[in-house]
Amino acid sequence: MNRDFLNIVAELNKAKKILVVGHIMPDGDDVSSVLSATLGLRKIGKEVLAGIDWRIPWYFQEFEEVNEILSYEKIMEANFNPDIVLILDASSPDRVGRFQEFFDNRTVLVVDHHGTNTLFGTYNWVDTKYGSTAQMVLRINTELGVEYDERLATLNLMGIATDTGFFRYSNADEIVFSDATKLVSLGGKMYLVSRLFENKRVEQFKLLSTMIENMKMELDGQIVYSYLSKEDYERNNCNEDDSGGFVGELRSIRGIELAIFLSEYEKGEVHVSFRSRDWFDCSRLAVFLGGGGHPRAAGCTLKGNLNVIVEEVIREAKNMFVSQRESRLLIK
Ligand code: 5GP
Ligand code: MN
Ligand code: MN
Repeated sequence: MNRDFLNIVAELNKAKKILVVGHIMPDGDDVSSVLSATLGLRKIGKEVLAGIDWRIPWYFQEFEEVNEILSYEKIMEANFNPDIVLILDASSPDRVGRFQEFFDNRTVLVVDHHGTNTLFGTYNWVDTKYGSTAQMVLRINTELGVEYDERLATLNLMGIATDTGFFRYSNADEIVFSDATKLVSLGGKMYLVSRLFENKRVEQFKLLSTMIENMKMELDGQIVYSYLSKEDYERNNCNEDDSGGFVGELRSIRGIELAIFLSEYEKGEVHVSFRSRDWFDCSRLAVFLGGGGHPRAAGCTLKGNLNVIVEEVIREAKNMFVSQRESRLLIK
């Protein structure tokens, strides 16, 4: 057994009060991991609060348990003094937002599957072998002797499904399928997970059409990019939660290797998502721009004027695309 894994399980066993924290701009894997760990630890008698320092996208309300995840303000109001902090699916301290304040003089446990993780915890179980952090939480819960019911199994399954693009991406390997099988046998329901995204507002289709209007190609159609400005969101009566799958739509275009989607979620604050199809290492580009992620899916957040950021990001993407393509040809 992995030593970091065992240390983390031992610390969780020892602790009475635990703060479970996810990352800003939470995705399905993050919400799933935080809820699965929180409900699991409560089942074995721990006092647990869960926090994410960001608004939780509305579609997660499909799962009523999501209301167990509290804002930073609510956790402060509760005057919670945890023995330890468990951080899930976050690759660097900035990704947990203001919950970093809880790190001082406490044991910090980091559980994550990002290769770009900066190992900022007291104990770090970081393994890129896993398609999702939710699978790592499944292992922790199992080791802790947590009994799964249908709800917990479904919530845990949600993270595996969402981080593998519903079992379609290159990270959907044997461990992913066997973990999903295990959760389904424990009562997990895929149709409930699918409802998260088969529940669209009409406004989201209008927003998609704006995104398509803004779309441009580079390098003979190997790179595609698009963006949405704050005004684009407002005009369509939407916010950034509503553009969740857009970068995936861009990557699905035939012949594309790299898809880039820039989202001005606040005036002057832009989140950039990178997705690649076969070989481009998005995480290298994202790290270069101050973010992180995986080889096929990565991102970063930049401040400034949207048009300027679009221009800069596309310039850097083209440069890195050409250099990665050349070194690939050399290796071949
Ligand atoms: P997305 O494009 O869906 O926001 O993120 C894709 C992947 O990149 C996810 O694994 C996410 O955790 C990571 N990622 C996205 N944005 C950032 C960022 O600003 N910083 C870091 N470190 N990772 C990010
Ligand atoms: Mn995540
Ligand atoms: Mn993840």
